Amino acid sequence: MVELRDIRSAADRIRDMVRQTPSKPSPSLSQMAGGEVWLKCEHEQETGAFKLRGASNAVARLGKVAGVTTASTGNHGRAVAYAARQLGLPAVICVSRLVPENKVQAIRDLGAEARVIGDSQDAAFVEAHRLEREEGFALIPPFDHEDVIAGQGTLGLEIVEEFPDAATIAVPLSGGGLLSGVALAAKSLHPKIRIVGIGMERGAAMAASLKAGHPVEVRELDSLADSLGGGIGLDNRLTFDMTRRLMDDLILLTEDEIAVGIRHLWDRHGDMVEGAGAVGVAAILAGKLRGDEDGPLIAILSGRNIDPARHADIVKPEGA
Ligand SMILES: *Cc1c(COP(=O)(O)O)cnc(C)c1O
Repeated sequence: MVELRDIRSAADRIRDMVRQTPSKPSPSLSQMAGGEVWLKCEHEQETGAFKLRGASNAVARLGKVAGVTTASTGNHGRAVAYAARQLGLPAVICVSRLVPENKVQAIRDLGAEARVIGDSQDAAFVEAHRLEREEGFALIPPFDHEDVIAGQGTLGLEIVEEFPDAATIAVPLSGGGLLSGVALAAKSLHPKIRIVGIGMERGAAMAASLKAGHPVEVRELDSLADSLGGGIGLDNRLTFDMTRRLMDDLILLTEDEIAVGIRHLWDRHGDMVEGAGAVGVAAILAGKLRGDEDGPLIAILSGRNIDPARHADIVKPEGA
């Protein structure tokens, strides 16, 4: 169980390890959404994604270990590597072959070993589990862990402190660690706030699981929102139930819709944001998410780690 007080302790614990990220209004999106829209610029977080919050909290709470390990589609691995270095621990990050090269390199640049294993998140997990079992490493999971959820929840605290009248928070959704933490923080303080989870149609494991009523596996597909890939774990302990309980609406997007979101953030705001980070904006632009009359909608820009060549290709002017 995670509670509001765990999120508050996490905020104290990681204060000097993470950035408190800025927010900014979006006139273009406010007009389209029919209500005030603000962007929470978590893509400006150290290591380029909110994952540093959960990883920092989890690593900071460890006792004596040989090192830390995880399996990750990129941003979580990078966050664990960064947090481990800050706390002076060795890190081995296990990633699947689907993970883009720029993300693998970023992990190596942080002084961690990046071990490339198999064709799925699950295969990478097997190696991380072996390190835990046989070599005394602590496995820091990407979402389904109390300390990780509490760390991500600090983002929710920041949002409601800055926007006490927020009506809606749009949260990118994959394994549900971010949504669980943000929703728990926000709803504990403002029970009426609407939490909208947003994912992609290609390989939406949480959506399929909610529909089935229990965690299910889906086939992993390449997507512009690669950070939203991967399953939720058939043995999911926390985030499936928390997402089911705390999420008010779920929106799924096509690849084209996600690309429009990335392009809008670049053209109108000058922000380089990865697919997973652009889904809230994309949902507004696709007409799938409306603003509110009684308070602002806050869209979390969750990360910026997109392959620069891919980004350039998406934002290039028509016909160029
Ligand atoms: C991990 C990630 C998400 C999804 O977070 P979950 O806790 O798995 O739901 C969204 N955006 C970015 C950039 C991420 O790295």
